[in-house]
Amino acid sequence: MEQKIIVGNWKNYLNKDESVKLAKEILDEKIPDKIRVMISPNNLYLNQVNDILKQSSVEVIGQNVTSYKSSSDTGGVTIIGLKDIGVDRTILGHSEVRKRNKSFKSEEILKEVIPEEFKFILCFEGIEQIPFNILNNDFEIILAYEPVWAIGTGETASVEHINEVHGMVKSELSKLNLDIPILYGGSVNPDNSNEILSQELVDGVLVGGASTNYDDLHKIINCL
Ligand code: PEP
Repeated sequence: MEQKIIVGNWKNYLNKDESVKLAKEILDEKIPDKIRVMISPNNLYLNQVNDILKQSSVEVIGQNVTSYKSSSDTGGVTIIGLKDIGVDRTILGHSEVRKRNKSFKSEEILKEVIPEEFKFILCFEGIEQIPFNILNNDFEIILAYEPVWAIGTGETASVEHINEVHGMVKSELSKLNLDIPILYGGSVNPDNSNEILSQELVDGVLVGGASTNYDDLHKIINCL
């Protein structure tokens, strides 16, 4: 049975106490077999949240990475640093990162991430942002379609639209024999998660706002 992936991106919504409280609530959650959960807390609390959730099947992941091990990367997040605290996956190229860094090119950081086989979820708004030629099946790579107009706006893409984009990307991936799941992200909530996650072309969802509230996250995890 293929598991559907649910990623909770807490962005910078929660403070330390709120992050710890929510992590403990998630620790007590019974995750259905057909679901895999990943949680991406704010960097400041990543270590603490990981310490809590490493006792569970929930994977704690980074929100970004800026270099492999550069020691001259002020304010950055390195792969070495993430590995050091037991984190081996990160979100990459989120639209909020692209907005902050107008010259962001995923290829540049992927050239450091891919040879290390450091797992990642690459966000894209358009198919042209996917560097198909450097992707591979050697370790787990995940893509996430995130139309920027749907992020944090309460406006969700229609399933027809999601299927069209996911279908297009999956067809490119299959030409290259790449076995890479695609998530959808953009205002996923308990009311629309069942419909979105039920789509065959949707391998999971990346959830921002709704993942920062236990009741909503619980409903999304149990929506299928
Ligand atoms: C996101 O942060 O990637 C996201 C999809 O946010 P939201 O669910 O709040 O739209």
